[in-house]
Amino acid sequence: MTEYLSNVLWTEDEIEFRKEVKAFCDKEIYPIADELDAGPYPRELIRKIGKAGYMGVHHHKDAGGTNRGLSYEVIVAEEISAANGGLDMARMATTTLYGMPLTKFGTKEQKEKYLKPVVTGEKIGCIGITEPDVGSDVAAMKTRAEKDGDEWVINGEKRFITNGSQADYMCAFVVTDPSVKSKEGMTAFIIDTKSDGFSVVQDHDLLGMKSARVSWLKMEDVRVPPGMVLGELGQGFKIMMDELDSERTAIAGEAIGYGRTPYEIAVKYSTEREQFGRQIRMFEGVSFKIANMAMKLEAGRALTLTAARMYDKGMKITKEAAIAKLYTTEAAVEITNDALQVLGGVGYTTDYPIERFLRDARLMTIGGGTAEILRFIIQREVFKELKSGLI
Ligand SMILES: Cc1cc2nc3c(=O)[nH]c(=O)nc-3n(C[C@H](O)[C@H](O)[C@H](O)COP(=O)(O)OP(=O)(O)OC[C@H]3O[C@@H](n4cnc5c(N)ncnc54)[C@H](O)[C@@H]3O)c2cc1C
Repeated sequence: MTEYLSNVLWTEDEIEFRKEVKAFCDKEIYPIADELDAGPYPRELIRKIGKAGYMGVHHHKDAGGTNRGLSYEVIVAEEISAANGGLDMARMATTTLYGMPLTKFGTKEQKEKYLKPVVTGEKIGCIGITEPDVGSDVAAMKTRAEKDGDEWVINGEKRFITNGSQADYMCAFVVTDPSVKSKEGMTAFIIDTKSDGFSVVQDHDLLGMKSARVSWLKMEDVRVPPGMVLGELGQGFKIMMDELDSERTAIAGEAIGYGRTPYEIAVKYSTEREQFGRQIRMFEGVSFKIANMAMKLEAGRALTLTAARMYDKGMKITKEAAIAKLYTTEAAVEITNDALQVLGGVGYTTDYPIERFLRDARLMTIGGGTAEILRFIIQREVFKELKSGLI
């Protein structure tokens, strides 16, 4: 049993669950992990993941979930990402990025109609925050909704939306009251992507994550019927911040997965490949890279599990989620890059999947909050602690 399966940090139930998810991936994902990169992921595979119960571990039972917690979502994220990063990005966009705002702020009716089918994998969700002119500065959002009778009419564009062209529903963040600061005037809506006026401008051509689809979307006079506001009017910014904490923790789980497979390939290769009459692992230049990879994976897992456990206890995790995501995503870029180096020339070919993991990993110091923004958040939380006498 490898170390990550027997680690004392995890409960017996979590260890058993991980083995079960790994067995699912061995059967359903690893055999097609390379060809999945042609994209888009087959919808049937998302249904299988849903049917196996890997979409709903962190959703309430009234939404078809098992309510086991974010620590279980982190396990699913790591295991599927260790096979194919883009597939898990698509899975996570539907179940965590779209799903968590619904599970936490949705009404009974909204969960029944718009979350349950996503948890089973029958329907696909996406989250719409980013716009052509709005990235890190989410409070500058331009997409507007205006009331017309008892309906809302939405106009605007959302860019870089994972699952955008595949999704049935979007959880979209929209300004409903431009007369106040957007932190108070922003509202979350559930939007049916088949609504009149909703269109896909294009799917972006990406460096990695090629098994997913990431899209530019346009809304022109999209009429949203009553009952599609998520939470309260004006509560959008709060819902978004809450979503980002769970998203960042789950992404940290994914990042460990992108790093793990290249690490394991590099460890094995370093004992098989001989140069200068000895295994290349005997050279410090190689073995110290492997030591660094092992250290970063272990540290990353501990940081990620800390954030997940705190979240599951209902604690605020803005700092811990930012630290986990920042550390693991930068580590994933370093690990995939070092693993490729250990393989030398063959690492640069598609004979090994390391180049795919390197391309996939590169996204995650950008999406879900860039490394720069996460550092800003961490220092802001640190100085709040100083102000409140904790330091
Ligand atoms: C493949 C992919 C999938 C994505 N999926 C989704 C999705 O599903 N839904 C969604 O809403 N969005 C999604 N995004 C968008 C992603 O979250 C944004 O790209 C990200 O938040 C950064 O925004 P930006 O690209 O506009 O960069 P910008 O905000 O324009 O930043 C450009 C650079 O400036 C730096 N910068 C900006 N402000 C500061 C500052 N205050 N201090 C220091 N540096 C700063 C940034 O760190 C970055 O290096 C996705 C993006 C990609 C590429």
